[in-house]
Amino acid sequence: MTKPLQVMKFGGTSVGDAVCIGKVVEIIRTAARAARVAVVVSAMSGVTNRLIEAAQLAKAGNESAVAEIFEGLRKQHDEVIRVLIGSVSEQQRLRSALQTILAEGERQCHGTALLRELTARTLDAVSGLGERLCAPLLAAALAEAGVASEAIDATELIVTDSYHGGAEPWIDLTRSRCQTRALTLLQEDIVPVVTGFIGATEDGVVTTLGRGGSDYSATILGAALNADEVVIWSDVSGLLTADPRLVAKTSTIPEISYREAAELAYFGAKVLHPKTLRPVMDRGIPVWIRNTFAPDDAGTKITSRPAPSPGGVKAMAAMRDAALITVAGPGTEGVPDALARTVVTAAAVRADVLLIAQSSAQQEVCLVVPSALAERTVEALRHEFSRDLMHERVEHTVMASAVSVITLVGQNLRAASQTMARALAALGQENVSLFATVQGASDSSISFVLPRADMKAALARLHRELALGGVSSPQRPVAAAASPAAGQPSS
Ligand code: ADP
Ligand code: ASP
Ligand code: MG
Repeated sequence: MTKPLQVMKFGGTSVGDAVCIGKVVEIIRTAARAARVAVVVSAMSGVTNRLIEAAQLAKAGNESAVAEIFEGLRKQHDEVIRVLIGSVSEQQRLRSALQTILAEGERQCHGTALLRELTARTLDAVSGLGERLCAPLLAAALAEAGVASEAIDATELIVTDSYHGGAEPWIDLTRSRCQTRALTLLQEDIVPVVTGFIGATEDGVVTTLGRGGSDYSATILGAALNADEVVIWSDVSGLLTADPRLVAKTSTIPEISYREAAELAYFGAKVLHPKTLRPVMDRGIPVWIRNTFAPDDAGTKITSRPAPSPGGVKAMAAMRDAALITVAGPGTEGVPDALARTVVTAAAVRADVLLIAQSSAQQEVCLVVPSALAERTVEALRHEFSRDLMHERVEHTVMASAVSVITLVGQNLRAASQTMARALAALGQENVSLFATVQGASDSSISFVLPRADMKAALARLHRELALGGVSSPQRPVAAAASPAAGQPSS
């Protein structure tokens, strides 16, 4: 009987230094006894930020600062080689492989500095180097521990469109590449260690899936390989009732539906990239979130049919940096389809619209997007509505203001009117003046748009008021901890 197939993804903090990588090796080694394991790995923590900084410094012509960053990255990865790899010849092989990758990045930054122009394509090539540095290190550390493994560049596996900075995979092409390249290794009991975050167009141009995109890489691979499950290993013991960096006394949600988890991710729960669940939802492949630093904790299981729960609010997500964009003006009234045009325009620049509303009297349209997307959304909307100004003498203003968004997620929230009344009363007592309250169409989310200054206090207050911080998660049985595939039936 073939062993179950698990895709395991390790995030930046999980591979933050040699000690962490040692823990990751142990988790993979144990799991590989009971399952076929394909690994997806992020860059070491902080590396992607520094690569992006290098690319931006290059654009500004500051080549000495760029060189300093690359030197720092070389030292950081060198240190891991020194600690984890015993054989001198293997150390040398790795050093020279990493040097080739770093030199490629430096060349790209040099070209950017000469032109004083940073294209989206070059930014993708440079920012994706962190994963390409990390995968060979982890593969070598696994080999050192007796686990046969091979590093694979996701550019060989994940075929995407050419939308740099937020590319989308072509699943059929990706599946056939995965079947030929990765599945062959798995059949020979070799662990493929695949770079997260990146892919390539059909012509081989490197793309990235967006910041935090390694989670998405893992589920794309999981779907392409027909995996039995995907395990996202991070620095928290599962999906928690709120971001533990913002709220004290959070607790782990043992099981949750794809829809609820996707809502939490979409509205800012950083532990999952917003698109993570898309590739696996239809196929019913369960996704676990588990803690590299507490591997015995059970974590969270995300499935189509989680164990029944009492309903009501399960968790909350917060997005501190969002922008409230208003399309308004004395003449907006006379503009046909203002809402539809706003939606289409935002979609064309791939802005993730968190919330959208139209007031019927003024025909004023308000939408909320993550701050990082605000500039391009405003620009596109101004362009779209400027046509009315020229042709119909209708004057618009498209304005953006800084806000935060808190979203409550659960099941049948409309029926939980008591809960809503309590939430609103609690916010009132905190003197939070809400800009908007929006109920998601799926009845699984309710969002509050509020001033940034009030976000943290409001979040803590709501968490307390809705009694979300219950008991923490049970320990995973030791035998099952090593292998979710073996220990927990897939649903
Ligand atoms: P990784 O490097 O493993 O990809 P990330 O930093 O991207 O990890 O995501 C993990 C972080 O997500 C946690 O440290 C936590 O602060 C944050 N987070 C936000 N909301 C939640 C939540 N509801 N549950 C768990 N973690 C959350
Ligand atoms: N290293 C990438 C980032 O920092 C991808 C990831 O961590 O998932 O955005
Ligand atoms: Mg992440």
